[in-house]
Amino acid sequence: MTSFHPLDALRTAPGPKRPRRLRRTAALRDLVRETTLEPSDFVHPIVVVPGDGIRNAISSMPGVEQLSVDRLPGEARELAALGVKAVLLFGIPSAKDPHGSESFAEDGVVQQAVRALKDAGPELVVATDVCMCEYTDHGHCGLLDSEGEVLNDETLEVLARIAISHGEAGADVVAPSGMIDGMVGAIRSALDGEGLHGVAILSYAVKYASAFYGPFRDAADGAPAFGDRRSHQMDPANAREALREAALDVDEGADALMVKPALGYLDVVRSVRERFPELPLAAYNVSGEYAMVKAAAANGWLDERAVVLEVLTGIRRAGADLVVTYHAKAAATWLQTGR
Ligand SMILES: [Zn+2]
Repeated sequence: MTSFHPLDALRTAPGPKRPRRLRRTAALRDLVRETTLEPSDFVHPIVVVPGDGIRNAISSMPGVEQLSVDRLPGEARELAALGVKAVLLFGIPSAKDPHGSESFAEDGVVQQAVRALKDAGPELVVATDVCMCEYTDHGHCGLLDSEGEVLNDETLEVLARIAISHGEAGADVVAPSGMIDGMVGAIRSALDGEGLHGVAILSYAVKYASAFYGPFRDAADGAPAFGDRRSHQMDPANAREALREAALDVDEGADALMVKPALGYLDVVRSVRERFPELPLAAYNVSGEYAMVKAAAANGWLDERAVVLEVLTGIRRAGADLVVTYHAKAAATWLQTGR
């Protein structure tokens, strides 16, 4: 005869585990969802061009257009209605030269764009890309030596001038993207030296030398005239080095970090998130990632809405607080109208 002990009841499994119980209805799924996706998680990139009344389609990025400054107040109103609260500006100058002189001009295209957006709606967060590659005739991210190598410390002085000019125009955030060593420290001390203490630095701390940037080079007219960017952007094979890059930028005073690209590098997003939990983290869902989805959707091979929301949720789930994405307006529209 076996005797029953009260603890036996605890030792006995209460039947098979059934995770499906919490997936049974839409309301249950909403209740236990771990990752949220909101229009305010998105940063909308804008490529600004000189001129008036311009809205240039970019063939490799359907739905993305280069805009002239006069188009920006309308764009700002549209974003506000959608709940998208931030933009990241890139500029194409009227003329390029070896020194990228227009990058820090007071009346440069990005500086004008910042003022136009801030006049249209001061609550919009205006972030600016800080790099030289769109402004140099050779298309590289810095000043070059006689061998065509990007000079590091000389380039820092130019990056500091660019950041000051953006801050003086009213930018909330400057985002250095060139992977030049010391760029965050140089920009922070330059901004502070000009009394621009309130301008935050979102550092492209971890930016890989990726083939997924291809379509953006059509958009921003920024392909290097020779060579590539592998002497400063990171090797796609390296993950531990990403933590070193991020740590340096944190030490130099970065207010927020970015990993770029996103989809092939979600492990890196996760590890930067875990190592630096105290800083906001952005991930850049780059042009090639956008173009792949748009091309497949145009062919009827993918459901664009479902795939875009899944991609953006995946980037958030990996640990990104913010997603810089060309899907921002479409995704915000879909989120407003329900899943
Ligand atoms: Zn660059």
